[in-house]
Amino acid sequence: MTPRPLTTAGAVLTIDLGAICNNWRALRALVGKATCAAVVKADAYGLGARQVAPALYRAGCRHFFVAHLDEGAALRPALPADATIYVLHGAHPGAEADCAAHGLVPVLNSLPQVAAWQKLGIMQGQALPAVLQIDTGMARLGLAADELDQLAAVPAVLQGIALQFVMSHLASAEEQDNPANRAQRERFRAALARLPKARASLANSSGIFLGGDYHFDLVRPGAALYGVAPVAGRANPLRPAIRLQGKVLQLRTIEAGTPVGYAHTWTAARRSRIATVAVGYADGYLRSLSNRGHALCDGIRLPLVGNVSMDTLTLDVTDLPEGRLGEGTLVDLADPVNDVDAIAARAGTIGYEILTSLGARYARRHIEPAAAPPAQ
Ligand SMILES: *Cc1c(COP(=O)(O)O)cnc(C)c1O
Repeated sequence: MTPRPLTTAGAVLTIDLGAICNNWRALRALVGKATCAAVVKADAYGLGARQVAPALYRAGCRHFFVAHLDEGAALRPALPADATIYVLHGAHPGAEADCAAHGLVPVLNSLPQVAAWQKLGIMQGQALPAVLQIDTGMARLGLAADELDQLAAVPAVLQGIALQFVMSHLASAEEQDNPANRAQRERFRAALARLPKARASLANSSGIFLGGDYHFDLVRPGAALYGVAPVAGRANPLRPAIRLQGKVLQLRTIEAGTPVGYAHTWTAARRSRIATVAVGYADGYLRSLSNRGHALCDGIRLPLVGNVSMDTLTLDVTDLPEGRLGEGTLVDLADPVNDVDAIAARAGTIGYEILTSLGARYARRHIEPAAAPPAQ
């Protein structure tokens, strides 16, 4: 992504790498002896994997997860050789050699994937590293129960594969009281007992907060690194990682009774000042925030009025002192107060989607961590 200067962009997205590293350290402290990895798929949830992953490496992280092989190949040159990059989707049929050539470790999600990886290792005359995923109750990725039966019956299927971990993924980890969590953990334990001895990994961000019984040997947080609240309905112990500031393009005063924006979904009840800001749904500011979102300026709430357009949104800025805003003034659309979870709640989605929707037109600023942490 080409960086855009603020002079020509409509908004600035500031990404606090220090906050992300602090969040990683906080999670690592929570999991004690277990290894804390970092999930940097989808361009580090939209925040820039090429900046986020090296910053986390400098903080001490050595295990990184991406979803696609392409993402891993793009990230590989940005990380030193002792960092391991795992590909959650595994290597698709025909892509195994590419996966190995890029120095990536696939997550094997089916018996055919296991067989293909074993075959490549035999051809190359070495045991190639891989992770094995077991589906324990999400029906998304990983070996199904019958495949696990087959594997347990014929462990030679794994011979010649350097098994790094056996992993599974929780479906409802952000709901601490959901009995599905315990059921998945028990199915995972039962699966581990039937497989060759290997390290194990179950928890995503929210899974870490379910307690030590869910940590196993390696945890895989993503969202929590980027400031998304890990436990539904609880105070967020993590630091927000982004600030989004949109530029005012134009200001106007309208009389009571004047409708604003596409389809006239809002009409001024009083004489109002309206600011048009250069951020719209094409920038990931979701259209579902029409008449629901708000911006902040000097701590004053500026309601979003009318529909969000592709490239703009409109704010009722009547409550701000006249003259506070001008053409080019920045207003906060997301910040530590109005954070991604708060925005998501109003948009009817989750913080993950707010982050990963953040657009490509922003001037992006990555703030480096203030100082290297003391060596441990
Ligand atoms: C995305 C993902 C994670 C990270 O999940 P968060 O909820 O963002 O912490 C971990 N494991 C797997 C398999 C994933 O797909």
